[in-house]
Amino acid sequence: MDYNKLANLLFPQIKKTPEDYEAIYPPRNLPEGAKVTRLGPSPTGFIHLGNLYGAFADERLAHQSNGVFFLRIEDTDDKREVQGAVPMLINALHHFGVHFDEGATIEGETGNYGPYYQSKRGDIYQCFAKHLVSKGMAYPCFLTEEEIAEIRNEQESKKLNPGIYGTWANHRDLTFEEVVERISSGQPYVIRFRSNGSLENHFTVIDGIRGELTMPENDQDVVILKKTGIPTYHFAHVVDDHLMRTTHVIRGEEWLSSLPIHVALFHALEWPLPTYCHSTVLMKMDGETKRKLSKRKDPELSLEYYKQEGYHPYAVREYLLTILNSNFEEFRLANPTASIDEFEFTTDKMSNSGTLFDLDKLNDISKEVLAKLSAEEIFFFLLQWAKVYQPGLAELMAGKEEQMLRILSIDRGGNKPRKDLIYCRQIFHFISYFFDDHFMVEDDYPKEVSLKDTKEILNRYIQVYDEADNQEAWFEKIRTITADLGYAVKPKDFKKNPDQYKGHVGHVSNVIRLAITGRTNSPDLWEIQQIMGLQQVRGRIAQAFQDIG
Ligand code: GLU
Repeated sequence: MDYNKLANLLFPQIKKTPEDYEAIYPPRNLPEGAKVTRLGPSPTGFIHLGNLYGAFADERLAHQSNGVFFLRIEDTDDKREVQGAVPMLINALHHFGVHFDEGATIEGETGNYGPYYQSKRGDIYQCFAKHLVSKGMAYPCFLTEEEIAEIRNEQESKKLNPGIYGTWANHRDLTFEEVVERISSGQPYVIRFRSNGSLENHFTVIDGIRGELTMPENDQDVVILKKTGIPTYHFAHVVDDHLMRTTHVIRGEEWLSSLPIHVALFHALEWPLPTYCHSTVLMKMDGETKRKLSKRKDPELSLEYYKQEGYHPYAVREYLLTILNSNFEEFRLANPTASIDEFEFTTDKMSNSGTLFDLDKLNDISKEVLAKLSAEEIFFFLLQWAKVYQPGLAELMAGKEEQMLRILSIDRGGNKPRKDLIYCRQIFHFISYFFDDHFMVEDDYPKEVSLKDTKEILNRYIQVYDEADNQEAWFEKIRTITADLGYAVKPKDFKKNPDQYKGHVGHVSNVIRLAITGRTNSPDLWEIQQIMGLQQVRGRIAQAFQDIG
């Protein structure tokens, strides 16, 4: 068989040669050790945490080494494509601090290694498919779905591996004339890779995350171009990552099983392998069992969730690094104020068996991160969030900047800042009692205090409350009310002699706290009232009288 003739028959329109493309996309001129990484999402519109997890690893590897991180859109499957998905993806990643150097952008494409949309690279894939055909390493296959199903049935009944390989690859050795005849009669065909591998032989690669991997060779004549001429993932990945000069391919472990195909394709094309880094899937605890995060069951799998709830991007980044690299927590303990960029991220510290994602842990990290921000930074962040997700709230806050800053400053700074702010929705709920329209009594009045005493406490309190009192003078007045009504001024006296008192100062204070804030837990009450002002404090006590009847 004259394979050149076959190649020209199949791809008459392809004039460029592999050498031409090698010259158009030469090796990158980068410093020694610089890494080139890419994110290759399909534009399905759903951006999940795994995208950010992978993107973050890619970004760190490239930027830490003065390399390049680019965005390639893998849009060969137009059934899954969603309008507007690309800007959405770029914006979502930008929001979390992930920036690309090259590739698809909102305005178009930048960089010398494009096009960066696979749908625009048709000629390139065809050129390399033609090249493989011309070397006898790929061939047209006209098998219909029915014929393939028959082959599979026969393989099943004989308990053989399924697929088109070896003697099952019926169209491997069609003559040139047979191919011409089938094409002229309009029979559709795919281009298959002619595998010379065997499951008996093994090859070894070093995975950046998993270390040495030994796997059986690929023996399947996999499809490289579909009937439509569009490449499969396998072929597009190999051609693109070679021509775009990717050095590190970080991708999900679902691709691990097809690694033998990719290695065989790289060998057939005589290209060096990139360093593969197969990351693990994100898991969560569901009761006692660990399971994969699921799109259907777990809203937290979507990146949009973190924007909607208003997680600060620093917190999400900090958390992702914690689960990405096992030594990040140690680094953070030793360097509490260092920027994330000072941490040296490495793939070999990435988990290789199911990364556990835990919202509680994210919340803990978020508390730490927010405790280090200034009230101004939190206010600004809250306002930006509210503008998108709660416009009414944004209006409310915009007019109350000074008050908001005081609210957000309560117990901030100093050695032991309060750590009760987590994400915007929660923060707003946490401070909502400052706003009359959002005030609600959420907890019960203390059971140690009778209804009569509750009224008496509030009555006396409003008579003696003086905004000009300092914290000490203010609390002294509460102590006086406490003692006058038969409650212990010191909780420990009540604990020692519970029969002698109705309750203690904590219960009395809580009556006041509930009236003012609607909760039994709040930051310093004196401070809260200073921010509210006399009128609002009076209003709350009056409302409490009404509520308790
Ligand atoms: N388009 C593939 C995906 O979304 C990319 C895999 C890769 O990074 O190679 O899973």
